[in-house]
Formats: sequence, structure tokens, C-alpha cells
Amino acid sequence: MAPITPSPCAIVHYHEISLKRGNRPLFLRYLQQNIRRAIGDLGPARLVQLSGRIMLDLTGHPDPAAVRDRLGRVAGVANIALAERTGVQMDALKAAVERAIAGCTFRSFRITARRAFKTFPLTSVEINRALGAHVLALRPDVRVDLYDAELEVRVEVLPGEAFVYSERSAGPGGLPIGSGGTVAALLSGGIDSPVAAWRMMKRGCRVVFVHFHSVPYLPDTSQHKARQLVGRLTQWQYASRLFLVPFGEIQREIVLSVPPPARITIYRRLMVRIAERLARRCGALALVTGDSLGQVASQTLHNLACIDAVAALPILRPLIGMDKLEITAQAEALHTFEISIEPDADCCTLFVPRHPGTRMSLEEVAAVEGRLDIPALVAMGVDGAVEESFDFPAGAGAFPPRAPRSRSREKRVPE
Ligand code: ATP
Ligand code: MG
Repeated sequence: MAPITPSPCAIVHYHEISLKRGNRPLFLRYLQQNIRRAIGDLGPARLVQLSGRIMLDLTGHPDPAAVRDRLGRVAGVANIALAERTGVQMDALKAAVERAIAGCTFRSFRITARRAFKTFPLTSVEINRALGAHVLALRPDVRVDLYDAELEVRVEVLPGEAFVYSERSAGPGGLPIGSGGTVAALLSGGIDSPVAAWRMMKRGCRVVFVHFHSVPYLPDTSQHKARQLVGRLTQWQYASRLFLVPFGEIQREIVLSVPPPARITIYRRLMVRIAERLARRCGALALVTGDSLGQVASQTLHNLACIDAVAALPILRPLIGMDKLEITAQAEALHTFEISIEPDADCCTLFVPRHPGTRMSLEEVAAVEGRLDIPALVAMGVDGAVEESFDFPAGAGAFPPRAPRSRSREKRVPE
């Protein structure tokens, strides 16, 4: 076999996918497709599926660091390393380790070798010892520390090739987007719902977004925030659809005949009915909200039960057991927090009662809804909905701190 010329690559490990048995090839197909989509505009990178990991050949690639950063946002990826691909001969491994530690300052180190095939003549421990001794010979000032090393050099030995690297970064984990089907997230301009949507992406769902606004009763700030949030979240799923639903007129009708304590629950039940119609058009199999139990009046168990009773699709609430501090920390990490806290008057601040009821019953809800023409209100929301699309990367915008440049095209929702 011809010796391998050392070359740069990225090694992508996944975790949960490797626990799948019969379905693993299907999940890997989604992951490969998403990886290609995430880095396609950065330069040539041949993708090779190896045993238990994916290798991206970065020979001649202009920006391996950007590849690593993008892969940090691909759901399903457990970790990523920029590595050197080399031969499995001990001399080749030693030379690769030398290059991996060149320029690194450290007082302690360890070698962590793994063999993906057991016919390699040395065991992992023997590889560690041989390469460790090589480093000690080169750098007599450092020592081996197996428990708390400042530098860890990893060596992955596969049949016919090996990968050597000293740094790896964490990916989001979870499952590849698309593998879990499509859901429709009710996206307000608040802190919680973008986090809820993201958590479903991490579980493999493609998310379409539905935002209810009160233009012309309120300024269009909430729509602007929804667009910015969708733009930010599109960095994780590369293409998004956002439905902007006019809700002010519907709220006005509700206010005319529903007593104040029941209004929030009735608003939510209307939102669910409208979102469900839009969800079905997109093939979404569930709705997602940012509810967290007990956070506000609409999120008591009684009221959630009244809201769920009107839904035919399941309503998923990934934040239900999280407290506000946990959700906020997640929003900050996602960079949605700074968008969410921009001041705005959400549609639910319009016509909102001072003392919403916290223990609505289905009988009360049915009684007040009897005074409304529900099908007409639902049709008003559905027919008035405007759809926008978002793409990432659109012209390789900065990643992640600057908001992506989203291509946004407006079109009426087709009937
Ligand atoms: P958030 O921070 O997500 O707005 P919240 O704590 O303010 O949540 P509520 O205002 O009671 O709670 O909203 C509960 C959920 O209802 C939201 O997480 C969201 O999924 C949905 N929702 C509320 N208002 C809207 C809206 N204007 N458009 C779309 N969905 C909404
Ligand atoms: Mg809100």
C-alpha cells in the first residue's frame, strides 16, 4: 500500500446516532446531508463515512477553522476536531504527534489512542506508551499526567489510516435535523419560545415558525423581532418558513364578548387552531410552545389542559420543567436573548386583562366560546397569514455573532 501523505481533515464524532441499530444508516444520511449543507459554501471538503465517525478531507481548503465552527451547530454532532490524516506506521504516527504539539505550551500531556480495529499490531496502551516516550524524548521539560493533562493528543487508528489531533470542540449533540419530522413552533418575541424551537431542532425536527402580531393595532416591532429570531435559528437548520398571522382583529372580537379572566386562554386556543391549520399545510405533525409550568397565568396546569383540549395535533412543550434562569442561560448561549429583550409590545400585551384566570375549566371555556364565531375567526387568521422564507448561509455571512443575512421573500399563503 502506498504511504499516506499527511493531510488536513476534520473528524466528526456523533453519539446518539451510534446507539441506533437498524436505523443508523438513515440518521447518518441526514447528518451527512446537513454537514454538506452547513459547510458547502466554505470550500471543497470531500465527506467520507468511516466506522463510527465522519471524515472531511480539507486538503486545499481555505478555512478549516470556519468548517469547525459551522459543524459546532450541526445537530447530531457530538464533537469535532481539526486533525491530520496519516499512515498507521509508528514513524508516521510519531511525526504526526510531533506536528500536533509543535508550538503548544504545556507542562503535562497525555496520549489517548483508540484502535477502531483490533488487528493493529499494538494495543492502545502500547501506542500511548510509544508515542508518550517520543514526546518525552523531544520535550524533556514536560511530564505525563493521565488525569489532568494540560494537553491531550488523540490518535485514532483505523484500517489503513490514522487521525491525530490535540484539540476538539463540542457540538450540540442530539439528532440530525430532518430525521424527526417537521413541527410548527409558536414563536412570540419573548425569551422562551425561540429556546423551545431550538430544543426541538436538536431532537431532529425541522421547525416552521408561526408568529401572531397585532398590526395595525400595535407597531410592527414584534414582526421584526420574529424575523430576527428566525434568522438566528436558521443558522441551525439552514432553511426556515415563518408565517406572520394578523391577530389584532381577532383579539378585538374576543374582547367584545369574553370576560377578562378567560381572555388569555381563549387567545391561546385561537392561536392553536390557526397554527394547526398552517402546520398541516407544511406537513408538521406537532405544535411547539415555550410554556414552562406555572410561569404565567396561561401556563397553569388547568389552563394548559384547556388549551390542549382544542388541539388535534400534539402540543410539545420542551421547556415545561425548566425554570426561567435555565431558559435564559440557554437563550444567551443561542444569541437569541439579545433579540428577545428588545422592548416591544407583544400581541398578548394588547387587550390583556389585569387578572387572568389561573383555573379555567372546559365548561367555562365552552360557554364563552359559544358567543364567538370561531370558524370565522380561524379563517381570518389563516387567510391573513403571510409567509416568508429564510436561508442560511446566504452569501457566507459571519458566524455566529453577527445576525445572518437572510434572504427573505414575501408571499401570500396559498390556499
Ligand atoms: P415567551 O417568552 O416564549 O413569549 P412567555 O413566558 O412570555 O413565553 P406567554 O406569553 O404566556 O409566555 O406565551 C406562552 C407561549 O405561547 C409562548 O412560548 C409561545 O409559544 C406562544 N405565544 C405567545 N404569544 C405568541 C405570539 N404572539 N405568537 C406566537 N406564539 C405566541
Ligand atoms: Mg410572551
